[in-house]
Amino acid sequence: MKKIILYSWFAFALSACGDSKNGDANDSKSTKTDEAFNAFSERFVAALGKQHPEASTAAGFHGYDSLLTVHDEAQKAGELAFNKAWLDSLNSFKIDELSPAYQIDFHLIENRLQQSNWYANDLQQGTWDPSMYNVSDVFALMLNENYASLETKLQNFHKRLLKVPAYYRAAKNNIKNPVAELKQLGIDQNVGGISIFSADFKDSLSKANIAADVKTAMLAAADSAVWAIKDYAQWLKNLKSDNPRSFRLGENLYEQKFKYDIQSKFTAAEMYDMAVSRKTFLHQEMAKLSRQLWPKYFGSAAMPQDSLLLISKLIDTLSTNHTRPETFQSAIEQQIPLLIEFIKEKDLIYIDPAKPLVVRKEPAYMAGVAGASISAPGPYDKQGNTYYNVGSLEGWPTAKAESYLREYNDYILQILNIHEAIPGHYTQLVYANQSPSIIKSLFGNGAMIEGWAVYTEQMMLENGYGNNEPEMWLMWYKWHLRTVCNTILDYSVHVRNMERDAALNLLTKEAFQQQAEAEGKWTRVTVSSVQLTSYYSGYKEIYDLRESYKKKMGKDFNLKAFHEKFLSYGSAPVKYIRQMMME
Ligand code: ZN
Ligand code: ZN
Repeated sequence: MKKIILYSWFAFALSACGDSKNGDANDSKSTKTDEAFNAFSERFVAALGKQHPEASTAAGFHGYDSLLTVHDEAQKAGELAFNKAWLDSLNSFKIDELSPAYQIDFHLIENRLQQSNWYANDLQQGTWDPSMYNVSDVFALMLNENYASLETKLQNFHKRLLKVPAYYRAAKNNIKNPVAELKQLGIDQNVGGISIFSADFKDSLSKANIAADVKTAMLAAADSAVWAIKDYAQWLKNLKSDNPRSFRLGENLYEQKFKYDIQSKFTAAEMYDMAVSRKTFLHQEMAKLSRQLWPKYFGSAAMPQDSLLLISKLIDTLSTNHTRPETFQSAIEQQIPLLIEFIKEKDLIYIDPAKPLVVRKEPAYMAGVAGASISAPGPYDKQGNTYYNVGSLEGWPTAKAESYLREYNDYILQILNIHEAIPGHYTQLVYANQSPSIIKSLFGNGAMIEGWAVYTEQMMLENGYGNNEPEMWLMWYKWHLRTVCNTILDYSVHVRNMERDAALNLLTKEAFQQQAEAEGKWTRVTVSSVQLTSYYSGYKEIYDLRESYKKKMGKDFNLKAFHEKFLSYGSAPVKYIRQMMME
């Protein structure tokens, strides 16, 4: 879900490049320094695109489609020199002389450059994570998107393809004592991408108007690329390391990564402690609600003494209230106008009627990720529709569909719609697009984006969505526990050496997840770090900010005004929005 959102924002950022007036800096307040900084930002974004040709392609900017980054020593030196040069020019601006919106941009650019230095010099992921090396995504994108004629796309595809063998040679050079889990992931994902070159590319080529001898050369390049990928996978398989790195990041690297990736005002350790208290609070509330609901659903049957068991019985029972596979999409569709109506009635936030959300069946190329996601219009199609992609349960075996529908039961489905659509991700996206700071779009803060969606779930319930029914609150708490436990799990595993059994126990017993979901989460935490904390971190900081802002404004506090002001800063880290709103 996240990937799609961030992708579209990055795309939007580059398209805004050149004609941007940086809407969040009011013209009346714009100073010479601001103007110079805006020009600097545009130069920086253009240079960054050239420095990262694959990211440019993913962003919908196709000027560098023929290039491929080969991660050798020269490339690393170039990256560090790039960071130094741009940090130096950034520091020629005095931050205090910039208007507030540009001050945030200043911080974001600084963080991006320092983060890149830290990734290269300290984290050194390229030495221990073989899954970092994979060319399939960027090539697949070139075949699937219709941004240029097929012939133009294939010519660039060909030029880029010629660099694939060098790309994997450099990868083999870099890798030392890789993490076992990431080694396997690297093998699986690279092998999984081969069909793009062996089948999809050949298909496209057969339809293209290209001379036969050129086609032959292109096919030979594809064969070499396939060979290089297979060779890489085989090399990884054979690679013996006496001292493989642990998948656990360790406290020192974890804190630093959290600092650069999440950009919170708290440390990772503080965030972990807050998540642990939150879990305790949620369990207490859930036990209260479950005791209250017990007679309604279980009559005079004896109530379990163990409160976690009591809660899980209630959750299991309530989860049987769910829609059918064939009405899954229409159930979602019917809820969107009800959400809008509720928000209007309670005056929670302005929803622009000119930008409707279109619910559609998930397109085939996204299939497999059942659930729901938002697709924003592409960079050259800003007036286009924003889609709410809903996974289809068509053809699913009965048991699998039943389990899925229990997960997305009548209560959770409403919460999912709040989170993904209105007033969650979709609404935030509409607001963010109104203040097209190139920098904020480009470096959109994942914790703020996810945090907002999580925050709106609670905010809707606080305002009476679901009629304050104890069932609705109980089920939201269960959903919210997932967010909280993502943070606890990630920190526990990477810093506190939590073992698999303890992790599964946390997720199934304390967060009431199904065994399959918990096992999937364990896999995810062994191949990623920090990202799982973004949901709770962002939520926590937004909620705290609202409470501080309430105190500051006293009787003048207005929830709608708070929401609109908060979103007007774009997808910036909450700590900077906080500075602006609290000063
Ligand atoms: Zn059922
Ligand atoms: Zn989300």
